[in-house]
Amino acid sequence: MLKIFIDPGHGGDSIGASYKGRTEQDDCLRLALAVRDILFTQKGVETMLSREDNTDPDLLKRCERANGWGADYFISIHRNAFSPEAATGVEAWVYSEVETQGVTYNMAQNIVDNLCAVTGYRNRGVKKGAPAYRDYAVNRYTEMSSCLLEVGFIDNTKDNTVFDTAFSEIALSIAKALMENAGLEFIPPVIKGDADGDGKVTASDARLILRAAVGLEKIDTARGDLDGDGKITSEDSRKALRIATGLEE
Ligand SMILES: [Zn+2]
Repeated sequence: MLKIFIDPGHGGDSIGASYKGRTEQDDCLRLALAVRDILFTQKGVETMLSREDNTDPDLLKRCERANGWGADYFISIHRNAFSPEAATGVEAWVYSEVETQGVTYNMAQNIVDNLCAVTGYRNRGVKKGAPAYRDYAVNRYTEMSSCLLEVGFIDNTKDNTVFDTAFSEIALSIAKALMENAGLEFIPPVIKGDADGDGKVTASDARLILRAAVGLEKIDTARGDLDGDGKITSEDSRKALRIATGLEE
């Protein structure tokens, strides 16, 4: 069983970076929970989170928990900050002493590459150490391969727009990379209403379902049958549209 430890950065009094009322601790937690939920649908993988709410476990304790659990991989999720609207993109930080192009390095690279490929985020690559000191604690005190992932700049409006609009794709790409790094097949979870399989329910899915209801399109029943009556009808399309517009969960 592949054991993945997911560490949402900051939490509690440690809000991390913030910009226009948005906090890093909140973005990190939302994304970590989404990655966890996606991995929950996959075979051969177990997950553990360092926090599941707005608390701030000690950094060393986060690492010790992962070590004690025997995690195979540790991923710490953060958002970057520099100066307002000045920097953009995704990067990962690994322990300063890992080999360039070695296993840990390449796994981090794979996560960054996957994420940038689906979102169009600028690829800032994999870096060793930490910007102002030798190593991040999460890379220094963990005994397994690890990386600290910076998912776009929270002080960049465009990066935040990508973070919000491509949120599902970001979570899916991270989960997929984590699985593939370990040689496991990633099977995208079936989301009811997500007729085109892009990870979210939008108005275009509602249209697809309506076309399927009248026989113009063939789609997976598991995706299109939202009311669970075993067939795809215009009622399912209406339900999908309500989900897409936030009127229904
Ligand atoms: Zn951070």
